[in-house]
Amino acid sequence: MLENRIYNFSAGPSMLPEPVLLRAQKEMLNYEGSGMSVMEMSHRSKVYDNIINECQAKLRSVMNIPDNYKVLFLQGGASGIFAAIPLNLGKRGKADYILTGNFAEGSMKEAKKYLKEAHIAASTKDENYTRIPKQEELDLSPDADYVHICENNTIFGTKWKTLPETGDVPLVADLSSCILSERTDVSRYGMIYAGAQKNMAPAGFAVVIIREDLLGNPSPLCPKIWNFTEQVDKNSMINTPPTYPIYICKLVLDWIEEQGGVAALEKINHNKAAMLYDYLDQSKLYKTNVNPADRSYMNVVFRTGDDELDAKFVKESIACGFTNLKGHRLVGGMRASIYNAMPIEGVEALLAFMKKFEEENL
Ligand code: PMP
Repeated sequence: MLENRIYNFSAGPSMLPEPVLLRAQKEMLNYEGSGMSVMEMSHRSKVYDNIINECQAKLRSVMNIPDNYKVLFLQGGASGIFAAIPLNLGKRGKADYILTGNFAEGSMKEAKKYLKEAHIAASTKDENYTRIPKQEELDLSPDADYVHICENNTIFGTKWKTLPETGDVPLVADLSSCILSERTDVSRYGMIYAGAQKNMAPAGFAVVIIREDLLGNPSPLCPKIWNFTEQVDKNSMINTPPTYPIYICKLVLDWIEEQGGVAALEKINHNKAAMLYDYLDQSKLYKTNVNPADRSYMNVVFRTGDDELDAKFVKESIACGFTNLKGHRLVGGMRASIYNAMPIEGVEALLAFMKKFEEENL
């Protein structure tokens, strides 16, 4: 870590790798001899065309995306895609939603506006979303256009470790808070989408990875900029794309390659998460109520059980040079988001702080 930078445990926008920020800084005023910053470039220029094409090619290679999938960079964040899904895939007007947190709920609420039926195939809301439903709990509809899941639940700290079996019905998954953090078998999904601002880039776009055969049936109501079929034809450039975040995404993908790819990051990420969970499991002060089998590798949620003590923890953590450890208001307590760019030293420093706080407050 460079001097004057702090460990930022934000759920998103979140830390970016320092080498990426430094490279962006270096290239800021004059990108590859163009005499201008990427921010100032026409999106129709040759030099920018290379950036967006390279970003896409690198994403394909890093995620090992099969040839029969298309990649799009679209605006409106993951929330925009919530609406775009039924508008592009809801041919028959029916979809299954598995509710594992408020983003899954949000996605379904948006879809309800456009579908005849958004069916809840399972929900763990009654258990405050502390676990992921099991396959035998799923009430799936064979005639659904798709089944939607939120793969990593940023607020509740849970993750689908085994994807649901959906037969011939395409699985659509929100990977906003786990994309690029581990290996992904893209062929298991009909469509993957993710807001960029956690593991990919600064805020400004959502990536969509969609199987080709699911294109071609957009609703006439679908806004042009979220029409996946049209955007594929126009290489995500129906209008001006978020040029700078896409450029930073390319730099992040370069960095991922330099780390040894997603397989290497997966190892580090699992290790970082295990360090925290192992400590939480033996702690006398902190607890985490997430079902152990479903614990997120990216968002570690914990609490002391005493709201005042939680507030004291957050206050003292700030004084010690950490930021954004306050849990989401729906859950309370604390949350450490440890995406790719959080170095292992950051987790070690947090653990040392947690141990000291436990000793002083038990
Ligand atoms: N899905 C998940 C899993 C998220 O964590 C978030 C944002 N934190 C969203 C969707 C919404 O993303 P956006 O702000 O890009 O609309």
